[in-house]
Amino acid sequence: MYNHKQKWLDSALAANTDFLNRVESDNLPTQRTPGTVAVLTCMDPRVNLEAIGIPQFDTDGRGDSSVRIIRTIGAMAEERSLIIGIFLAGIREIVVLMHSDCGCCLAYNKIDTIIKNMEENLGESDLNQFKARIGEPFRENLRIWLKAFEDPYEATRREVSAIKAMPFAPKDLIVHGLVYELETGKVNVAVNGYREVG
Ligand SMILES: [Zn+2]
Repeated sequence: MYNHKQKWLDSALAANTDFLNRVESDNLPTQRTPGTVAVLTCMDPRVNLEAIGIPQFDTDGRGDSSVRIIRTIGAMAEERSLIIGIFLAGIREIVVLMHSDCGCCLAYNKIDTIIKNMEENLGESDLNQFKARIGEPFRENLRIWLKAFEDPYEATRREVSAIKAMPFAPKDLIVHGLVYELETGKVNVAVNGYREVG
């Protein structure tokens, strides 16, 4: 399934050598930056956070963004990050940033491909163990378990509601829902969290 001869790690370590030659260690951010905002977005590398004002690091290694970034498939909430973010880092505002053409949307339509690839790459006993965990009907339950979706706007609204309904979510937690259009770079508001609080 995967070509291990590509040796991605070698190129990553070579890049680190270049990086060490290029940056001044004094420039690297080492102090914790207090901040109240976290962005929960997709792991898809096409989602450019500069589109909502979150800067990349400078080429000399400088970076001073205080925004916490949580990347998961389909911008789905991950409880551990939210608990530490809210109760230790001081997050008071969460932005769910979904996007068009998401892998979670593809997964909805290609659920049979996922199952076929699992069957081809997993041993029978591992697959059966996983199937037992998901339950029957496997195909439909897997779709739900993966939180695969058809419409990113509906999925965004669903995720915002799910975060607000979490038992550890403070009542005044502000949760926004945005959808980033890959084709144009435009960000559309699905949920304005300020309207839901207060
Ligand atoms: Zn995605």
